[in-house]
Amino acid sequence: MPMYCFTCDADQPHRPLTRAEEAWLKERLGRASVREFWMCEAELNTETKKQCRNLRTGMNKKPFARPIRVPVPD
Ligand SMILES: [Zn+2]
Repeated sequence: MPMYCFTCDADQPHRPLTRAEEAWLKERLGRASVREFWMCEAELNTETKKQCRNLRTGMNKKPFARPIRVPVPD
């Protein structure tokens, strides 16, 4: 779903979090629910396929003072 990404400073594809990513974010934020978050899927490097993975909510393009990027699973 295309949405504005604050760290990319452009509209980028976003997707909801996977269950593993949700679990990580709940732990990170100390919250019971993180359903409102979307992750930026913009590819920052075409060779390594590294993604932006910055978080936003549907309503808020900058929900954190410092950006939170979802770590890539091992
Ligand atoms: Zn982004």
